[in-house]
Amino acid sequence: MAKKRRKGAAGAAKKRSEIFLICLVVLLVLLIAAGACWYFFVYRKAHKGPSAGTEGPSGELPEEPSGGTEAPASEELEIHFLELGNKYAGDCVYVRVGDVDILIDGGSRENSADTIERYVDAYCTDGILEYVIVTHGHQDHIAAFAGNKTYPSLFRRFECRTIIDFPRTNSDSGVYRRYVEERDAEVEAGAVHYTALDCWKEEKGAKRSYPLADGISMNFLYNYYYDHSSSDENNHSVCMYLSQGNYNYLFTGDLEKEGEAYLVEYNELPQCKLYKAGHHGSRTSSTEVLLERIKPEYVCVCCCAGAPEYTKDPDTVFPTREMLERVMKYTDKIYVTSLATNVDLEGKKWDYTSLNGNIVVRSDGTDFTVTGSNHSKILKETEWYAANRA
Ligand SMILES: [Zn+2]
Repeated sequence: MAKKRRKGAAGAAKKRSEIFLICLVVLLVLLIAAGACWYFFVYRKAHKGPSAGTEGPSGELPEEPSGGTEAPASEELEIHFLELGNKYAGDCVYVRVGDVDILIDGGSRENSADTIERYVDAYCTDGILEYVIVTHGHQDHIAAFAGNKTYPSLFRRFECRTIIDFPRTNSDSGVYRRYVEERDAEVEAGAVHYTALDCWKEEKGAKRSYPLADGISMNFLYNYYYDHSSSDENNHSVCMYLSQGNYNYLFTGDLEKEGEAYLVEYNELPQCKLYKAGHHGSRTSSTEVLLERIKPEYVCVCCCAGAPEYTKDPDTVFPTREMLERVMKYTDKIYVTSLATNVDLEGKKWDYTSLNGNIVVRSDGTDFTVTGSNHSKILKETEWYAANRA
């Protein structure tokens, strides 16, 4: 009897522990399911990483809209192609993504530093440039960083956090030497300095791809002339692209045709929504091999259209006839910053005014707009085009 009772008590205990075990398993399954849901729907969305430079943006396609009510998960990106306050060709591109401010080059003359500072100050309220990219050692890209007594260097006007410039140069000009002095002083004051080759190789703490915001990254490309010499300084240009979901924006400095051929050979270049025309619209850049790969939809040219700065030949003044013909096979959405006026017959004197003016590109990854501070017409619709390139 006692034995049976004990047996009954043991059976009840066994049943209780079975129920306990089942509850435990159910709880565990629920926990795992909840964890998986959190990982897929919350964590992964919040940690979409940037793409690696070599692979292009393929790993970074925006997620399919789920219910049609959510806005695309991308911050607004602004790219400003600046007029530089004088009649010479030069590059300065200001990029803004939320609180991240980037300056790519600072041409065209020392006095451009005033123009650039005023312009950037209107957007960059904290006086900090998170990234400064300097493509190569020519005056029309570094003068405002070199500065002089009258026009202090941009490095003295902004706090620059990370400076990325060219690993090679043939330059030994005064303006180049002052650039190096000013850059090194900024590094002394706390800035970090890498070359584009450090970035490509991910050495010394540099990265090939820098995330700028959710779904937006800055990606350094490999240029063969980072570690091979070229007699043409332009070929040493830093090359990179910004990626915003399906949209890519390519910057190649003044890279020439040899460099472009290598760029296409050594990188998996993505199709590009926008391309800053290489070398101010020179006929020796924006070659078919590059255009065929990137198939640009928009092209911005930083130059003073028609200025006889380098040549009097009306076909090869920037932006050149050859370059425009090549680009127009892909797009006629071409914009140009400045315009030469009062060009004398000798081709020695000229003034300047705005063509599009400061060109501002805004994109949230879906909507894309181009606005010129003077006007927003494409080049084909301008009087200069009708008179000189039609
Ligand atoms: Zn240049």
